[in-house]
Amino acid sequence: MSGVPSYVSGISDEPLLYRSVGGVLSDAAEKWAETEALVVRHQAIRWTYRELDRRVTELARGLLALGLRPGDRVGIWSPNNAEWILTQFATARAGMILVNINPAYRASELSHALRKVGCRALILALAHKSSNYVSIFRSCDPFPELEYVIQLGPGAVPGMLAFQDLLSSSEVALPVTDPDEPVNIQFTSGTTGLPKGATLSHFNIVNNGLFVARGMATQAGDRICVPVPLYHCFGMVMGVLGAVTHGATVVLPAESFDAHSTLAAIAEERCTALYGVPTMFIAELEHPRFREFDLSSLRTGIMAGAPCPIAIMQRVIAEMHMEQITICYGMTETSPVSFQSGVDDPLEKRVGTVGRIHPHAQVKLIDADGNVVPRGERGELLTRGYNVMRGYWGDPERTAECLDAAGWMHTGDLATLDEEGYCSIVGRVKDMIIRGGENIYPREIEEYLLRHPKVLDVAVVGVPDRQYGEVVCAVIRLRERATCTEDEILDFCREQIAHFKVPRFVRFVEVFPMTVTGKVQKYLLREQQIQELGRS
Ligand code: AMP
Repeated sequence: MSGVPSYVSGISDEPLLYRSVGGVLSDAAEKWAETEALVVRHQAIRWTYRELDRRVTELARGLLALGLRPGDRVGIWSPNNAEWILTQFATARAGMILVNINPAYRASELSHALRKVGCRALILALAHKSSNYVSIFRSCDPFPELEYVIQLGPGAVPGMLAFQDLLSSSEVALPVTDPDEPVNIQFTSGTTGLPKGATLSHFNIVNNGLFVARGMATQAGDRICVPVPLYHCFGMVMGVLGAVTHGATVVLPAESFDAHSTLAAIAEERCTALYGVPTMFIAELEHPRFREFDLSSLRTGIMAGAPCPIAIMQRVIAEMHMEQITICYGMTETSPVSFQSGVDDPLEKRVGTVGRIHPHAQVKLIDADGNVVPRGERGELLTRGYNVMRGYWGDPERTAECLDAAGWMHTGDLATLDEEGYCSIVGRVKDMIIRGGENIYPREIEEYLLRHPKVLDVAVVGVPDRQYGEVVCAVIRLRERATCTEDEILDFCREQIAHFKVPRFVRFVEVFPMTVTGKVQKYLLREQQIQELGRS
């Protein structure tokens, strides 16, 4: 195999669409006016494309009437609901930039996000699970650039506008939007500290949604069950934009992932496609009432976001009727997808690889010196093409760290390409933990824990977990003479950082294994902890 370089370029007889996010919804409302666009089970909502389009226009006008302007950043901090999707399209139609805020974020993360991109408006849910969004918001220092806070849900919170009062039938003119303009900022953490705002254009995400859904052979009338969060590309691009570009229906089973609601939604709504990270599929397959649900309507779907175990793929095909399930690989900075397995790929490729390169995208694999490796050899995966983000908002330096002058996005993932172009993700060069599909950058937790007065040094590693794939283990060196308990550390995290970043294990050590140059040898530390915790 040597000699053939690890470079692939996706071809298609279908051109990229030069259309805005608002534009593809208008097109859908014309082509599939009476088709169901959106079913939100927990809100008892069913809207056709015509109805969705009308409400989106009303909200876009309402936002402009309020005084917001094209280019303004509008944050949304809410679990999955119809208002999230209305806001996604309405901000786009009004030329604004939607800022996705993870519903699990707590005070320190919210403050950083709103400040980093200078949100002028924030739309927030009142509460979800253990988070009271209003009180977390109020616990933050004031945000000078934030002029409008808009609440979802019932009642009237003093100082906030009510979402339903924004819908406006006035004749405010809507701007013409250039598809190359930014439409969306999504936070991704990094190996270097605080989360960065990956900035995506209409062109980026419209086309990625289009080709991802095309990759599942989506047709008008398909019904896609979306239990994954909307704040992530998996929900809002692969789910919502995938559906809208094909006249399919988005079915939201619940505010956030719940195996039972997902199974019930598939059965009762006769869904034809199901999305999820591997952990979600495991939870569905292992649900005690799994056998009671009729899943025979399922044909396809997507598993993505973390390594997809072959055994789980096989069970999903056999037990959930998803003969045409596909695997996707990608990252937020690439809109997200760059590899997808095909519905007709041979079984072993479909369960064992992330498929072949996406239409119009390019990938190469390089070694530590930057040279392209031969086919079959592992190398860092670099992506180039229409789907690469515009950059990190207000952060040219950190953009330049991963987006090179030739337009390649350095993903930090290690992969191999076989002679037919099928890609396998075999590891990571970046220091990252994936807990059930949520990416966690140890550096971010380390920096947070270093603020604790008793902590001298800390190293965060991932240890294996049957349910989540990996979980967080914080290994701490205490200051001299300090004594500290695991609970003190956990209490320090609880109201401040998202629950999935809170360490599952807190360990205290005297020394870290170090390299001669003074760097913590994380792989050794990880092995030590795995052994001591008995988690191999
Ligand atoms: P995000 O930016 O949240 O979409 O996360 C992107 C990262 O998730 C990638 O850089 C990979 O490390 C990981 N990832 C996504 N999809 C897959 C997959 N199918 N297999 C293995 N890792 C994946």
